[in-house]
Amino acid sequence: MIKKRGIKVMTELLNLKGVLVTSQRIHNGIGIILQTESIESYSLCPRCCTKSEKIHQNHRHIIKDLPFGEQPVFLEINRRQFKCSRCQKPFSEELDYVGKKRTYTKRLAQQIIQEVLENDIHSVASKGIVTTEEIERMLKDASSELCDSKPSNLKRLGIDEIALVLKLIEVKEVSLSLKEMHELKEKIRKIFNKTDDWYTGVFKIGMWLSRAKKYFLRSHNTFIGWFDEIIAYFDNGTTSGTVEGINNKLKLIKRSGYGFRNFDNFRIRCLLNWT
Ligand SMILES: [Zn+2]
Repeated sequence: MIKKRGIKVMTELLNLKGVLVTSQRIHNGIGIILQTESIESYSLCPRCCTKSEKIHQNHRHIIKDLPFGEQPVFLEINRRQFKCSRCQKPFSEELDYVGKKRTYTKRLAQQIIQEVLENDIHSVASKGIVTTEEIERMLKDASSELCDSKPSNLKRLGIDEIALVLKLIEVKEVSLSLKEMHELKEKIRKIFNKTDDWYTGVFKIGMWLSRAKKYFLRSHNTFIGWFDEIIAYFDNGTTSGTVEGINNKLKLIKRSGYGFRNFDNFRIRCLLNWT
């Protein structure tokens, strides 16, 4: 009896429409795990809208939900596969609270996005509830959803729509810079792996630095500080004489510019000296 009441309370606390908590347990160091099932015994076929109760397969998996106090919360859910009696084809049920192939509830994504907009991705990820990859996915989903939900027949925007548009812009900005940061990270790896002469090295690193400064200021400054040594890395198979020569030349350019404040200028000057 007590157990039953506890389960009912957990269902109420969880407060997800159409979801029943069937059992709960706490794992030390992991969090609360709630086993759930859908209240409805049927689902509508997405092709013909026929109600189906015939379960074809059970697909159970674990997703993350909003934390409860300081405890992370995980839901064991079952996305059932039904077989439509009309089309004779199986289909996966839609669940209002979690997107397909997502490892977190929609409401958790919403909260995380809010936190990212107020702080930054790194600090949100460091809390350990979601990974940076999951945040990346959440932002992508949110920005495409907001794009789709632009009301087409609306002439004047109300305060809610304005808030929505502002949010769209914000989310897009964050997700765009994330995309660019990821590209830059991949790019620098490629430059180091695939470049084997210093001339191309100077050129590519220069291009990279001018793009990366915005996002990775510290790495950017480290690069500038170690520029000679980094360029020497690309100079495979040549004697240190050549490296010395390049170093001297780079130093000369640096001096002749009285120290370059703008890396683009420095890069151009370097390249001009070797053309
Ligand atoms: Zn059907």
